[in-house]
Amino acid sequence: MSVTVGESQLRDFARSLLEHTGGIVDWPHDQRTGLVLAPVEVARCLGQTDESFRVALSGTEGDLSLDLGGEFLDRAACTLATYVPAQGAFALPGLNVKKSEFARTVEQAFGWQNARCQVCQGNAMLIVYHTWWFHVALRSDDVWESLLAVTINCDGQTVCRMDGLLEAMEQRPVPGLSRAPDTTIRTAATCAQEQVLQDARTFLDRMDNRVERDRQRLRDYYRALLREAATPSRRVKTVPGPEELAARQRAVKLELQRKLAELAERFAIDGLLRPVALAEFHVPGVVIDVRIQRKAAKREFRLYWNAVQKRIEPMQCSRCGRGSYNLWFTNETVEPVCNACHDQADTGGGSSRAGDGEKLA
Ligand SMILES: [Zn+2]
Repeated sequence: MSVTVGESQLRDFARSLLEHTGGIVDWPHDQRTGLVLAPVEVARCLGQTDESFRVALSGTEGDLSLDLGGEFLDRAACTLATYVPAQGAFALPGLNVKKSEFARTVEQAFGWQNARCQVCQGNAMLIVYHTWWFHVALRSDDVWESLLAVTINCDGQTVCRMDGLLEAMEQRPVPGLSRAPDTTIRTAATCAQEQVLQDARTFLDRMDNRVERDRQRLRDYYRALLREAATPSRRVKTVPGPEELAARQRAVKLELQRKLAELAERFAIDGLLRPVALAEFHVPGVVIDVRIQRKAAKREFRLYWNAVQKRIEPMQCSRCGRGSYNLWFTNETVEPVCNACHDQADTGGGSSRAGDGEKLA
């Protein structure tokens, strides 16, 4: 039996889906079945028990049938959404970037708390950003869902705001990402997690209130039961002995504990943060090299001025990883430290990420 155009498209789609998710497909063009070796989680997502399975066009026997009427499309959609983050790279048309006055821009934007800054040079070039979109779902007794976008300056490793960049500018697609997704995913995911806790505050408070209300109801109910268990019943003739009364009370207490545990389980929050898409933007700007002097020590840093948004990006704190315009520097190693981390170091608190233990003078 020959292969129709529709079937051949379906086969190309399946092949590209499998290859994008790390699978290997051996399927000669004139054959109606092929052999696949796929990562076990991808195979499972496609309804297979084994990493190796036979894939077949409709009406031919195989483990996975490419049948438009069957479950193949649902399973393929799920595999796509789970294992193939959408990626794209775009460049904005070259703006005429003026290099003049960037020294003044640096001075105006930054506060150098215990160091001197000398602006060395500025070069107009494309700054690379990654914008990640995350699907967020919090599941408890109820569900909260959202789609979050986080933008990272790839080389500065700081979180930036890119309001309206996607819509406002004329972009042209460029082939491939110039920075690997794993260079920014961690920073982006950390920022997204913090954002979720803020965005979902009302939902989380509501869950807290509900669980507290139900807990109180359970306690009231079982307290009444306990009182009842402690008093001899008037309806029955025989009066229970103290041991039996104690046993009844124990049973009521155990039951209350079981119900409270059930309640805690029902309201436990199951969180999901899944990257769904990544776009890389090449934005015209000025890369500014500065030299920071802290006592006798000197170190060079790179700052980024975004010409589209007419804004200079913050510098990354070496301790918490957050971007900041107000910086302290350590002696000798000249590590940038934000105000919050500096205050913590002062008060003896320690949440240092770099953790080199060097004291700020
Ligand atoms: Zn910090």
